[in-house]
Parts: sequence; structure tokens; C-alpha cells
Amino acid sequence: MRLSQAFLPVLKETPSGAEIASHKLMLQAGLIRQTAAGIYAWLPLGIRVLKKIEQIVREEQDRIGQEMLMPTIQPADLWRESGRYDAYGPEMLRITDRHDREMLYGPTNEDMITALFRDDVKSYRELPRMLYHIQWKFRDEVRPRFGVMRGREFLMKDAYSFDLDEEGAKLSYYRQLLAYLRTFRRMGIKAVPMQADSGPIGGKLSHEFLVLAPNGESEVFYDAAVEDVDLDRDGLSYDDDAGLKALFDEVTGAYARTDETHEEEYWAQVPEDAKRTGRGIEVGHIFYFGPKYSEAMGLKVSGSDGSMITPMMGSYGVGVSRLVGAIIEASHDENGIIWPEAVAPWNVGIVTMRADDDATVAAAESLYGDLQAAGLDVLYDDRDERGGVKLGGMDLMGLPWQVIIGPRGLKDGVVEVKNRATGEREQLTVQDTLAKLSS
Ligand code: ATP
Ligand code: MG
Repeated sequence: MRLSQAFLPVLKETPSGAEIASHKLMLQAGLIRQTAAGIYAWLPLGIRVLKKIEQIVREEQDRIGQEMLMPTIQPADLWRESGRYDAYGPEMLRITDRHDREMLYGPTNEDMITALFRDDVKSYRELPRMLYHIQWKFRDEVRPRFGVMRGREFLMKDAYSFDLDEEGAKLSYYRQLLAYLRTFRRMGIKAVPMQADSGPIGGKLSHEFLVLAPNGESEVFYDAAVEDVDLDRDGLSYDDDAGLKALFDEVTGAYARTDETHEEEYWAQVPEDAKRTGRGIEVGHIFYFGPKYSEAMGLKVSGSDGSMITPMMGSYGVGVSRLVGAIIEASHDENGIIWPEAVAPWNVGIVTMRADDDATVAAAESLYGDLQAAGLDVLYDDRDERGGVKLGGMDLMGLPWQVIIGPRGLKDGVVEVKNRATGEREQLTVQDTLAKLSS
């Protein structure tokens, strides 16, 4: 992409009204614009990141489930069937259509997926199943804040599992636990699974995944051992029931909770030098709830002996749009965003220090072509602007690599390659730059 032809509006001043770094940076670097309280338009820079995150979530979910797409607008009657319509409260955006039918903008999809599954699945042979979709949700939050982190309209991946019994349902849960850990790792962030339900043992299973960041809404307390869990241990696959169970035991064996479930009595048992505290942002939540919706909505399948079985269910959410903010919270400095490679909007930014120097422009143009040919996403700042302004913009937008080209370096046959995360700079020939960045 050539910056001279792009819609990438960068604000010169720090935007007012944004309380935390990620919100400020998302406005300043031009990822989003607010259109109403808690509702945002995604500008070209923002959507590129959102799509990268969404694609990582999709690829990891595809290993254990199937994608589908349910609508945003749902009939109220579906929620009356599950008994949730009145209980849900003012967070639900309720709408009436021209025929006076009551509708709603979905805050989540348990009711709809249960009805869809019920209408087509009749036999135990069709279970287990894991289905997911990535769709916009609406929750009329009392206090939308921190930009996309607590929006009213937000993008969520929600998956739903259907199993014949509790044992199977737990395996589905363990699979998602592993899928989540691998998903967040691929994004270049650390998300710690924390026990979300302090109910007695044997109660419902629930874990939240928290990205550590000083501005997180939750206080966190965990045993460092939970960070050392090996996700690639020998033979660990989604078909390895014993391995999945062992992983789960290891993850849940280490104390890790938020302020909502924290218990001093157990915390005291964590070795002093392993105690970690701080703040975190909830980016995912997995939940096993058994027959709650299947029972309420009459989902039953016939068993091998002719008996009727009520499937056990779980649901698994990832805050896809919240992740954009959470990743920035966890990865930025005073100059701007520092994207982990896997979610960066472009891999490389090229900056010409002098747009009026023919040799500079020629070198930049040819490198721009070559880097793209090597399969990289490249943003080329070809504008007739001061070099310093362009460099500031690149730092703000946070691309992992910058190639800075100017007459002075070119005289010696080199360009400057800067790593955004470490600040390290190298003087390399164009050939070496190409080799380094495309390796
Ligand atoms: P929270 O406690 O933050 O309000 P929740 O527990 O109500 O979230 P879930 O129902 O577990 O949310 O939704 C699954 C995921 O969707 C959450 O882990 C979070 O990442 C994301 N999410 C929930 N509410 C919002 C929101 N208002 N804005 C952006 N993302 C959200
Ligand atoms: Mg939650």
C-alpha cells in the first residue's frame, strides 16, 4: 500500500477523552473512530489487524470444530423458549420490526444454536459436535469505555459443544482450553487461564483467559507455574484424551484467579517466589454448563438402546475486537504501538527521507516491489512529507520493521533497517535487507 493513496488518518494531537493507552493509540494511529457511545467504525488500519486476529482464531478453531454463521438479529421467542428473555435485562437491545414482532440484537447465541442443532440432529451417532461462528454482538453496557475493550457492539468468536455425556463434554472443554492457549500464543501474547467459578469441586467448569496489562479491569493472582505449561509436549493432539486431561490438570493445578474468585486461604499455599500479581484483561471465557439449554429447549437425541439422551453443552467465547485493544495494552511504548509480527497490519514500512531525491525514490520503489514479491505486506510512505513526520507515523502505527531510505545512506550503498520492538538499527545493502526481511 502506498501511503499517498491510502486512507490512514493519523492524529497529530493526543485525542482527548481516551483514558488508557490502547484507546488513545487506536484513535491516534487511525484504527477506529467512534460513531456512537461504545460503537466504532474500523478504518483500514484497524480492520487489517482485526482480520489477522480473526483468522488466527478461525484456523485454531477449525482444528476442533466447524465454522458457521448465525445472524445478529434474533427473534425474542427463541429466548423465551430458553427462559432467558426476561432474565437478561437492560443489556439486551430489544427491537420491534414493522409487523410488531419482537426481535433483539444478539448478545450471545446459546439459544439459537441449541434450536438449530435440535431441529436437525436426532441420533447419538451425530454427536459429539463442535460448532463456532465469528459474529458481531451487541450488549448495551452501562458504561462502555476504553474504546473497543468494552464496547457495546463487538466482534466475538463463540463456539458451542454438544456431547452425549459429561465425560465427553469435559473433553470438548479440554480441547478448547488447548486451542485457546495455542491461539493466544500465536498472536504473540500471554493469556493466563484463570478459574472463573469458585463453586465447589464437581460444579460447573469455567475459565477466563487474561492478558496481563497494567490497565486491565481485573486484578489477578497466579502461580508462575501456569506460564510454564508445555503446549507442545510429545504427542499432545486434540485426539489424545489422556494428554488433554493431563494438560487440564496441570493448568488447573496451579493457582490462578481474578479478584472475583480470589481466596486468601489457597493463595497462601503458593510458594512466595512463584506468586505473581497484577492486572489483566479478559480476552476469552470457556464454560461448561451441561444440560441447561438442551433441557430447556427440548434438545434430545436417541441413544443406541432407544433411550433418549439430553446432550451436555459448553460455550467458548473469544473477544476478537477486544483483543486488538488488549494486544496494544500489552505491547506499546511512548512512541506508539508495537505489533507482534502475527497480527501486524503490515510487516514492513518503507520510509523515504527525501521524496525529491531521484536515487532515494528509485531505491524505495524497487524495494517496495521486491518485498511484496517475496510475500510480505508492505506499507510504503511515498508522501512528500518531512522525514521526521513519516518516521513518527511509522512508530505510531507500530509495524514490526521499518526500512528507512535516504540519500546519505545510499551514497554508501545502504539503507537503514529498524526493528520497532527493540529499536535496533542496522545499515544494510538493499539485497541484504531483502534477504533479512523475507527470511
Ligand atoms: P466482561 O466480564 O468483560 O463484561 P463477559 O464475561 O460478560 O465479559 P462473555 O460473555 O464471557 O463476557 O464473552 C466472551 C468474551 O467476549 C469475553 O471474554 C470478552 O473478551 C468479550 N467481551 C464481552 N463483553 C465485551 C464488550 N462489551 N466489549 C468487547 N468485548 C467483550
Ligand atoms: Mg466472561
